[in-house]
Amino acid sequence: MTADASLRHALRRPNLKDYALPGLRELCTRRGWPAYRGDQIATWLYKNDANSMQAMSNLPADLRGAIEVEFDLSTLEVVTTQHSKDGTIKMLLGAFDGARIEAVLIPEERRVTLCVSTQVGCPLTCSFCATGALGFSRNLTTAEIIDQVLQARRLLGPEEMLSNIVFMGMGEPLLNLPAVSEAIRLLTDPKAFGIAPRRVTVSTAGVLPQIAPLLEVAPIHLAVSLHATTNEVRDVLVPLNKRFPIEALLETLRQEPRINRRRPVFFEYTLMEGINDSVEDARRLPGLLEGIASKINVIPMNPHPDAPYRPPSGEVIDRFTAELHRAGVRVTLRRDRGRDIDAACGQLANRTPAVAAESEAETVAPTAIRTD
Ligand code: SAH
Repeated sequence: MTADASLRHALRRPNLKDYALPGLRELCTRRGWPAYRGDQIATWLYKNDANSMQAMSNLPADLRGAIEVEFDLSTLEVVTTQHSKDGTIKMLLGAFDGARIEAVLIPEERRVTLCVSTQVGCPLTCSFCATGALGFSRNLTTAEIIDQVLQARRLLGPEEMLSNIVFMGMGEPLLNLPAVSEAIRLLTDPKAFGIAPRRVTVSTAGVLPQIAPLLEVAPIHLAVSLHATTNEVRDVLVPLNKRFPIEALLETLRQEPRINRRRPVFFEYTLMEGINDSVEDARRLPGLLEGIASKINVIPMNPHPDAPYRPPSGEVIDRFTAELHRAGVRVTLRRDRGRDIDAACGQLANRTPAVAAESEAETVAPTAIRTD
């Protein structure tokens, strides 16, 4: 961090968007106002998209003034948006300290999904993932996670509604659980975003001790990045496997009472040619998953310059999924979205030409600073 950035860090006030409803109510009551004022603030921020306290016209002026002095309302700044031929939009967002993250908006026929990031970079160094190659800078705050949603919503047309949120962008959500939990509370609270919990999915590479605490937050869906059927292969693809190996991961899921047929776990399986795409792999999977209510999402590897892996041929992909079908496993093949703009799974690495040049020169402007 530059001297400038650490000064900005030190002078920062808490952001109003770091608080879910209970926190907003408490910050009102602690200052002598009734709790419902907290609900009104949430309505302004999340239903009316207010960007200043002054806009909150049904709140008493002294309350607006007090909150304005103590709390920050600044947002992540949109640095660039890239539009894919298939309608996918990738946003590059800048934080107060110059950090850059990405969020991907995926409009489909019957839903609009936003894929959000939870960390700047990622500490897990999965060998096939572009974000892993970036290294890890820091956790995002709740406000920064929520800003991705607010900014994405502004890109939608009047008829479009953001219907689904997936925590599958940069970072490992379960290594940033406090901020992620508070964001989930805001997303699912009818007084804030009001998104049904089953339309929120959090993906993890398998940070086992944090799975139960995550599922306690709300009845959301859990996704688990599996990618291999032996520890030997998974150790290489997902180094976290050395700490939490396949058997321990699957046993944790098997014992988890909140995972059931109504709320199955989604296993992500990125298929890489010659690595994890054999018929033996496909035959091992059903046995491994026995006793766990689950669906498998097969994702052909999205190639990128930081990894030596490639997707298998269509034939091999079909053979793999057919084998799973035959064994009665519920399997879907994830369609490729946004590959032409590096917005597909595992391609998030701030690879926007102009920005790459900027960060090389270490002159990242403090674009997210707002003092109003
Ligand atoms: N750290 C969490 C959240 C990231 S989710 C997790 O690992 O689950 C991103 C998903 O994209 C993960 O399932 C990841 O394994 C997958 N992925 C990463 N790189 C990919 C690539 N190059 N091609 C296809 N999928 C990839």
